[in-house]
Amino acid sequence: MSSERTALVTGGSRGIGAAIARRLAADGIAIIVNHRDSRAAAAAVVADIAAGGGQARAIQADVAIPHELDRLFDEAGPVDILVNNAGLHIFGTLAEIDRAHVERHMALNFTAALFACQRAAASMTGPDGRIVNISSIIARTPQPGRAIYAASKAALEALTIALAAELGPRGITVNAVSPGSTDTDMTRPYMVGAMRDRAIAGTPIGRLGAPADIAAAVAFLASPEAGFITGEILAVDGGRMDM
Ligand code: NAP
Repeated sequence: MSSERTALVTGGSRGIGAAIARRLAADGIAIIVNHRDSRAAAAAVVADIAAGGGQARAIQADVAIPHELDRLFDEAGPVDILVNNAGLHIFGTLAEIDRAHVERHMALNFTAALFACQRAAASMTGPDGRIVNISSIIARTPQPGRAIYAASKAALEALTIALAAELGPRGITVNAVSPGSTDTDMTRPYMVGAMRDRAIAGTPIGRLGAPADIAAAVAFLASPEAGFITGEILAVDGGRMDM
């Protein structure tokens, strides 16, 4: 299969990013699966896509490190679709957090996404450039112990809206998908017992999100059909309102 469009998915080795990579590949898009540590998992995503007749390759890079982000884009070449998915979430109350906690969240959840947008937008020459940023419903419903994660995602949402206005005249749309609690390695350590029961009870659809739920929304926003939608923050959270 030869793909006409190329998507770069940061953090495409596991969880939501891996589901996005698989889903976009199923839609006929060539995928660059970025990963930091999980080389084998990224290789498995690439192999699955190839087995299904799609095109994919993996590129290792820590996108929070500026020169690695630049190397990622140098190796990737021009992209039509950027999905800023790589993200970090660490609990910390006001008394517990330090500057390193703030800087780690901002470096990955905001700054890496910002400069990835800059590099991707510079390479987008076609009529249907797409940027999809993966936020979190926590951005709009911050909770104790998650202030910095929430702030980093709120900054990402502000960036999304500003860049949508700036890049719209070039036909590039910029949107965010905002997942609720989704079953991945990120949430599995703490989304257990009473907390998991509460999350499900507070979700009208009655379950946690699956990575494929998030990937389906990304696939729609990345499609040519979504060309008149930009600057939107799309919650994919089963209707949860009790955060
Ligand atoms: P995850 O299971 O922890 O997976 C994180 C992915 O990001 C992995 O593929 C990891 O790659 C990659 N990654 C981490 N740091 C990286 C870095 N510095 N450079 C490049 N790649 C990096 O997380 P997830 O639950 O799928 O979350 C994906 C996104 O959704 C995040 O932005 C998260 O904030 C957001 N989100 C998740 C939920 C949820 O409930 N799960 C809810 C709302 C929003 P390696 O393993 O190769 O290092």
